[in-house]
Amino acid sequence: MADRIQLLPDHVANQIAAGEVVQRPASVVKELMENAVDAQASEIKLVVKDGGKTLIQVVDDGIGMSPTDARLSFERHATSKIRSAEDLFQLHTKGFRGEALASIAAIAHVDMQTRPGDEELGTHLRIEGSNVVSQEAAVTPKGTSIAVKNLFYNIPARRNFLKSDKVEFRHITDEFHRVALAHPGISFFFYHNDSELFHLNQNSQRKRIINIFGHKTDEKLVPVQEETQVVKIDGFICKPAFAKKSRGEQFFFVNDRFIKSPYLHHAVQSAFEGLIKPDSYPGYFLYLTVDPTSIDINIHPTKTEIKFDDEHTLYAILRAAVKHSLGQFHLAPMLDFEQ
Ligand code: ADP
Ligand code: MG
Repeated sequence: MADRIQLLPDHVANQIAAGEVVQRPASVVKELMENAVDAQASEIKLVVKDGGKTLIQVVDDGIGMSPTDARLSFERHATSKIRSAEDLFQLHTKGFRGEALASIAAIAHVDMQTRPGDEELGTHLRIEGSNVVSQEAAVTPKGTSIAVKNLFYNIPARRNFLKSDKVEFRHITDEFHRVALAHPGISFFFYHNDSELFHLNQNSQRKRIINIFGHKTDEKLVPVQEETQVVKIDGFICKPAFAKKSRGEQFFFVNDRFIKSPYLHHAVQSAFEGLIKPDSYPGYFLYLTVDPTSIDINIHPTKTEIKFDDEHTLYAILRAAVKHSLGQFHLAPMLDFEQ
């Protein structure tokens, strides 16, 4: 029988990988903003048009890239963040898989400008569907700007699958909130269709939360603090009276990364038991710091799930910390269910 196996060309492999990394415009927002954070930006601007379908641009004032790095950053498995598999358990960066830019460039028109602070000239690079259209030296500000246009232009099935601009915009806003909440020490701007939605100055965790969710949030917040060998917990729960029927204001950050964890959510929810109606959700903004060797974040390409070495202990500590805060602020017991 004749040989039948062929290696896929890079641009096809990139398109396949893109399916996992880029589900919708919000995925691009997340990846670009996290790259800006990893580049030590002190200010990050997000510019979006038409729910991200026509334009997603992220501008940072971070470390920038050399001309060679600018080109290499769009190759698959190209990363400056890890060198070996062991590094996966010592992560201090948001990225490490080296596939976001390669994936994005496979399915969109990308325009990058980048300059390290110690160089006079920067690089202007354009890529369409994994093909470099042009690369030239250019006068650009310090840092990096990446504009992603016409997402999924070469995959009509995925483009048609996108929801309305309004829905896609909502997903983008969620990602923006998550990154901005995780990094109160960085300034963020967010523009949609030429109007400024957010201008967040560097601030404390508490002020960042209030600047995003409105001044009425201030009275809702109750601090949570705990420090043990296993985990340091910081942040806020919302008073039981503000629990909602719908989900929304539930945020866990582990080592400054937003994560989803039904298990940890259960720990918080159970601490509120008897204080809120069983079918309502308490709000929380909880920042957990753990030893990077005790977690695995490389479970899914989107990096929003995490495996903890000892999740039972974490559960117990978290539940106790929340209960403690509720008690300390005389919020328990509070049995008035009728509102
Ligand atoms: P990862 O973030 O997993 O390393 P990416 O594909 O997102 O992979 O980015 C590839 C590389 O490009 C990064 O490792 C980094 O070196 C570089 N890079 C990407 N975005 C920026 C940026 N905004 N500023 C500086 N360097 C960047
Ligand atoms: Mg990245």
